[in-house]
Amino acid sequence: MSQSSDKLFFEARQFIAGGVNSPVRSWQAVGGEPLFVREAKGCKIFDSDGKQYIDFVLAWGPMIIGHSHPEIVAAIFHTAQKGTCYGAPTAAETQMAKTICEAIPSIELIRMTSSGTEAVMTAIRLARSFTGRDLIVKFDGCYHGHADSLLVKAGSGALTLGIPGSKGVPRCLAELTLSLPYNDNGILEETMEHYGERLAAVIVEPVAGNMGVVLPRPGFLEKLRELTAKYGIVLIFDEVITGFRFTFGGYQNLIGIKPDLTCLGKIIGGGLPVGACGGRKEIMERLAPAGDVYQAGTLSGNILAINAGLATLRILKAKCAYYPQLKTKAEQFHNIVEKLFVAKGIPVCINNFHTMFTPFFQEGPVFDLNSAQKSDADLFSRFFHGMLKNGVWLAPSQFEANFGSFAHSDADIAFALNACAATLKEI
Ligand SMILES: *Cc1c(COP(=O)(O)O)cnc(C)c1O
Repeated sequence: MSQSSDKLFFEARQFIAGGVNSPVRSWQAVGGEPLFVREAKGCKIFDSDGKQYIDFVLAWGPMIIGHSHPEIVAAIFHTAQKGTCYGAPTAAETQMAKTICEAIPSIELIRMTSSGTEAVMTAIRLARSFTGRDLIVKFDGCYHGHADSLLVKAGSGALTLGIPGSKGVPRCLAELTLSLPYNDNGILEETMEHYGERLAAVIVEPVAGNMGVVLPRPGFLEKLRELTAKYGIVLIFDEVITGFRFTFGGYQNLIGIKPDLTCLGKIIGGGLPVGACGGRKEIMERLAPAGDVYQAGTLSGNILAINAGLATLRILKAKCAYYPQLKTKAEQFHNIVEKLFVAKGIPVCINNFHTMFTPFFQEGPVFDLNSAQKSDADLFSRFFHGMLKNGVWLAPSQFEANFGSFAHSDADIAFALNACAATLKEI
């Protein structure tokens, strides 16, 4: 497809395991060789040949205000001139913590990490210490980073590549993780009756994004909150994708449910490596040095990442009033895409929430991992490659979320809709 990308991928495979530094980038799920990126600006991304695409991957979530935003570039530039890493506290870190605590009321204290994976590892360790219990519950198809305990029926790349339970995870650790179907209150209640008093934590993506977009059914998260409170279990919302995506705060702000701990990442780093774990004071205080739960990081609170994140949050705060407008625009886009599919007679179930969407190639409804997997992944692959040819870059798997952003203009959306119509004619 792109000779230069094919050549670059060939070279990469000589030196990088599998040719990529994160598995989904290999495009294994949709076939063909991955495009290499030369640069990106706004909602446009350019491959190694210089061909331009409308980007709906947006680095898998972080770039909600678009690539290479001038204010973020300036923040990174000015910071770098004063050093890039100190290994000592800075006022900017407190500013970041304060901004997040004020935006998400359930977060009373926070700790910054360099990735979402680390944030989740920290949350789980805290929950185990706080409760004195070992077992945790997650949900099939949810992805919480690549720590041992969470790679059980995991989503995202693990699901895409057919290794939702990774090799190399000690059985004794995997056995401490129970994975339940998403959105099934009945199984949830049964599990709680049997295991409730042995559970340290329940972790959930409040809007699932890593088996494709799956929305929580009314009452699912409410039931989770009720039952975890009843059994003294730490409820962890993994808002690594959803944090600051729908409002200036978490998804929890919209539904008025307070988890005990929240994990963040992606958007709050402005495209630099960041994660965060925060929540109830009495739990967070257990972290060393105040408490006896160990957690650390050479690059945690790194000044470049913090200042890029702060710049992003400043911009989002200023745009705060426009989130509903963005939602309306996204919904119009999804409606038109759906009509195009209907006109062509191809079954589709477009799961979407605000700017997050997945076109599942099936009638639907898609409400958990099992129903997601009924999709026609081959047809999706053809659609993906067709869209690419027509200048639109979608997530290279049926089981991933796509993202709109503040950088997608009406013209960009119109371009994407034309590409969709053209692609549907061709497949
Ligand atoms: C991306 C993601 C993670 C992991 O974050 P990394 O920064 O990739 O380690 C955790 N949870 C969810 C819901 C994610 O989407």
